[in-house]
Parts: sequence; C-alpha cells; structure tokens
Amino acid sequence: MADEFPFEISPMFEGERIRKDNMHVELAGPKSIGFELVRATDMKDVEDGKFTLIGPDLSEMAEGSRYPVAMIYKIAGELVETDLESIVERRNHEFQNYIQGFMHLNQRDDVWLRVSKDAIKKGLTSFEPVAKAIMMLFKNELPFIEKVEAVYITDQAEIEKEIDNARAVYKARDERTKGLHDEDVDTFYGCTLCASFAPTNVCVITPDRISLCGAINWFDGRAAAKVDPEGPQFAIEKGELLDASSGEYSGVNDLAKRLSSGEYDRIKLHSFFEYPHTSCGCFEVVGFYIPEVDGIGWVDRDFAGTAPNGLQFSTMAGQTGGGKQVVGFLGIGVNYFRSPKFISGDGGWDRVVWMPNMLKQKILDSIPEDVKDKIATDENINDIESLKNFLKEKEHPVIKRWVVEEEETIEEEEESQPSEAQYYQPMQYVPQQMPAGFMPSMAMMGGSGSGGVKIILKNAKVTVDKIIVKKIE
Ligand code: SF4
Repeated sequence: MADEFPFEISPMFEGERIRKDNMHVELAGPKSIGFELVRATDMKDVEDGKFTLIGPDLSEMAEGSRYPVAMIYKIAGELVETDLESIVERRNHEFQNYIQGFMHLNQRDDVWLRVSKDAIKKGLTSFEPVAKAIMMLFKNELPFIEKVEAVYITDQAEIEKEIDNARAVYKARDERTKGLHDEDVDTFYGCTLCASFAPTNVCVITPDRISLCGAINWFDGRAAAKVDPEGPQFAIEKGELLDASSGEYSGVNDLAKRLSSGEYDRIKLHSFFEYPHTSCGCFEVVGFYIPEVDGIGWVDRDFAGTAPNGLQFSTMAGQTGGGKQVVGFLGIGVNYFRSPKFISGDGGWDRVVWMPNMLKQKILDSIPEDVKDKIATDENINDIESLKNFLKEKEHPVIKRWVVEEEETIEEEEESQPSEAQYYQPMQYVPQQMPAGFMPSMAMMGGSGSGGVKIILKNAKVTVDKIIVKKIE
C-alpha cells in the first residue's frame, strides 16, 4: 500500500495470528496493562501527523519480552464530535491488523498486541511507522478527520498514571445510553467491521444492547452513520415490534437475511436460546448454558480458569465465534449486563447462576439485589455438583424451574413425600436448535435418558451403502 513503511499493509493480513514461537514481543494483554483511546480535540491542539513515544521503542525490546502499551490518538475536524471517538478507536483494531506481523486483539483497556519475529527481521523496529500508518489510514478512510496526532506509551509508570483517565472516558460513554431504551427510538444501527472474518455476522446496536465487542453504543453508531452513511456503521429501520420480551423487530429480521446472505432470518435481540444474536468473535464475555441447573453462566476474557462446565473461555469462544447464531452460547459486551433488557426473553438475571468473581465485582451495581448473593463465582464454586448445592442453599430463583425428572416416579411414589433430591432435579432442557460443533456438557449428552440431543448437520454429505426396510410385525 505505501512504500514508506517497513512492512506490508493490507486488509489481507487481518486475521493473522502470531503464536508464541513466532512472537518477538507481547504488548499489554492479560499479563500486563494497556489501553487505546481516541479523543476529539480542538483543531489548534492537534499537530497533524506528529508522533510521540514515551518509554522504550521496539528496537529496545528483547525477544520474548512483554511490555505495557497505551495508544492515544487526538483527532480534530469540523465534523469531529465526541460520539465519534469510539468509532475511530475501533478502527485502530482493524487497521493495526492490516500490518503484516502485527496482531491487535480486543479493545479499550483489554487490548493485547503481538509483533512477530519476521516483522522485526524485515525492519519493524520502531512504533513510529506503525502510528504513522494508522494515522494515514484514519485520514484516508474517515474523511471527517482533518488532523490527527498519536502518543504511544510503553513506560509502565506513565500508563498507570493515564489508565484511570481512559477508564473514566469509557465509563462516561457507557453511561450515556442509560436513560434511553429500544422503544424510545425508531432507528437501530448495524456494523459490518467484523464481516471479514465472520461473514454471516449480523451486528445490531440498540440503546439497550451495546455491540458485543463493547466498543460501540447506540450514540456512537448514530454519529458514525451520520458522517459516513456508506461506511461500516449504518442505520437500521427497526420496523414492527414482533415480540417485546425477547426484542424481535421486523427491521432486524430483514437485516439478518440480507447480512447473513439468507443463513439467518430471525434475530431476537434479548434472547439467549431462541434466535439469539450472532457472535462474531470480538465479544468481551461468553454466556454458556448449564443444562444440569437450567441456568446460564458467563465468563470473560480476563478469566484464565475453568468454568463449572469444565471449559475455559478460549474453548467456549471457539465454539461461539464465527458470526453464527449459536444456541447454548452467546457473546456479549460487558455493558449489556447493565441493560434493563438483559436476556429478558429467557428470565434475565433470574437465569444467571455463575460468573468469575472479578466480572461480578465489575458489574455488581447492575445485579438486582434479590439475586446478587445467589450467583456463584469461581471463589466458591468450580463444578456442577457444588453449583447445584449452592443454588439450592441460596434458593436461587432458577430452582423454581427444576422439575421432578420422571413424572412416572411421582405417580409410583404418590403415597410417600418426595425427597429433596427428587424435587431438585433440574428439567432436561433441549434447545430449539443445537449449534454445529456445540460442545455439550455431560448431562446434555443424554445422561438421564430423557430429552436427548438433536443434531443438525449442515453442508454435510451422508453416504449410505445399503438400506434395509422391514415391516414391523
Ligand atoms: S463486534 Fe460488531 S460493532 Fe464491534 S466491530 Fe465487530 S461488527 Fe462492529
């Protein structure tokens, strides 16, 4: 694209993964700190094209090392407004991934970057060309930006000084949608930024549902669609309300058909089980159904442990991503926990049974008082059996959904009182559609003999050598 850079830069490098054995340096990520931040700034306070680095440069970073990183961009222009900050910030993720040998994951203060050994060998020894390439792309692709300046920080103490300020900005952005709800607006917004790696993804952003990457709220979508209606964020006429509790709208269904090329024709914005929102792979948190208790657990990227279903975030993320509508798993942005419509189609908070303690503390204010202490965390519960006992002991609302497993058993033992153990058998829930590649936990594999598993094979060839048809006598 541009000869002045010591690397190739093209959308074809998006999706490139840098594994440990080809990694020269890791920046931020789960074992360090960092953030990215875009600020709308006065024209007079931005020196166009200027780059400042505070801390060591790439050339000073030894092979295999890890450093914190902060990337701050000041943007200015007649049309630039604060609502556009998130939109530009999200493009930092996209454009850095255009650089061959440079990997950018996640967003905000969850960013995680890696630079490959090959890129260093080819001459990528400074952050300056990286920042200059990103500034060039910002101005080329987002014409409302007239001036841009970048400050990168790799000094731990400096980042610690700045990170709270960045978090305050994210919080203020998230707070803006609090007083506005889906029913108050006629327009939702869509985003296709993740379509390159998740072609059937249908990303819908509403006042009550932040994007699943957590970076774009309804105001951000509106601002982006206003300045660049042909860009990746665009308006969706929400159309007719088809189901209030699960958030189904005719306009969203029409968009689903169009964006997924007919793969999906219904999306219920606030449903976990029925026609859920697609999950591209950028989600901050994955929800997972736990059939043994008929409840839902949630696990975020920062949690390195194992959830009660025996799976880690990375395994569940692999099952969930790719732009699919995956029943049994759901990717969301952290701020969706704060929505009054949070999985309202499936019982909302009354269905939440487990989450890592760090995540629970982050969103504690948004959990209704009556279930706050009834949601287990990794601090006390790490397997299904103890989760069941915990929920019983705390009288979690989900236990009302548990039914005696075999009605016949009740009939046979009509005379005697049912034991507590019989009463607390969660019902065998069979989702409307099992996702391809779904990894059920043991109970979902049909341990009890009732319910069973429905498997839908898509794009599969089935060969049959012989069929014998016999009359049943
Ligand atoms: S997750 Fe959705 S809103 Fe976020 S960048 Fe991807 S498509 Fe856009």
